[in-house]
Amino acid sequence: MMKRLVSFAALVALSASATAQAPLPFVLKQLGPGVYAAIDGPEHKAGSNAGFVIGDDGVLVVDAFFTQDAARALVAEIKRLTPKPIRYVVNTHYHADHTGGDQVLRDAGAIIIAHRNVRGWIRTNNVNLFGDRITPELKARIEALPLPDLVTDKDLIVWLGARRIVVRTVLGHTGGDLTVAVPDARILFTGDMLWRKVPPNLIDGSVKEWLATDATFLGGPAAAAMQFVPGHGDVANAKDVDDFRAYLTNLRRLVAEGRKAKLANDALVQYVAPKQRRVYPDWTISDRAIAAEVKYMDQELAGTKKRPVPQPD
Ligand SMILES: [Zn+2]
Repeated sequence: MMKRLVSFAALVALSASATAQAPLPFVLKQLGPGVYAAIDGPEHKAGSNAGFVIGDDGVLVVDAFFTQDAARALVAEIKRLTPKPIRYVVNTHYHADHTGGDQVLRDAGAIIIAHRNVRGWIRTNNVNLFGDRITPELKARIEALPLPDLVTDKDLIVWLGARRIVVRTVLGHTGGDLTVAVPDARILFTGDMLWRKVPPNLIDGSVKEWLATDATFLGGPAAAAMQFVPGHGDVANAKDVDDFRAYLTNLRRLVAEGRKAKLANDALVQYVAPKQRRVYPDWTISDRAIAAEVKYMDQELAGTKKRPVPQPD
């Protein structure tokens, strides 16, 4: 009996240490007092970046990852750092790689804040986002995503006690985008308005609006000291914002050149891809990503780009 007890205890100890050592699907980085970025790990198990701000009387989370498992790991990390309640999650946009874990945050007590248009798109347009990679399981998961509780098409201030969080409505990535600023720490969570060293998904975007919005990230005297949490890629600075804008500008220029030479479809991709890769050798640019970017940029320049249409409330 004693021996059985000992081995059971050993087993429990073993499984406890195995759980403790299970790697997080993201890397948690403290950027300022009570401000954390959760950066998608090298295996991309979280699907995107997220983060959170610990205020005087509660926690505000920015984005919820793609999987509920990753969201659960985020909640566990928050609980490890603070006993304060999780009060809000802000969805920077409707894409499922940022909203897939919303139910976990809601179950943890959060009110889901999003742009007004997200309610009309989250359960439908997310299916298009995956194109030929959609599966019946993923479709069912998308159709069951919770709808946001609190929506806005204006800027919003959320007070966490004395801590002021500024939620801004911006244009560019989907037509329903929010950024989240923590002015006292000079930190901006940009959602997918910024990608660092990875090509952005332009499926719902307007590069014209996007470039204009990102220019505002660099406005103001504090820009050089700002830290940015992008939607994808590591924590960024003002130079990364510059690089990202230059990437989009270069893409638009190359696609325009190709169109002028009457190139289309694959030929246009073959014209743009090697040139873009040569200018951005340290970016991870997959064939699939650059082909999609060229296609959507071509559509935007042709005036045929389809973007999500706001639905009635
Ligand atoms: Zn997105």
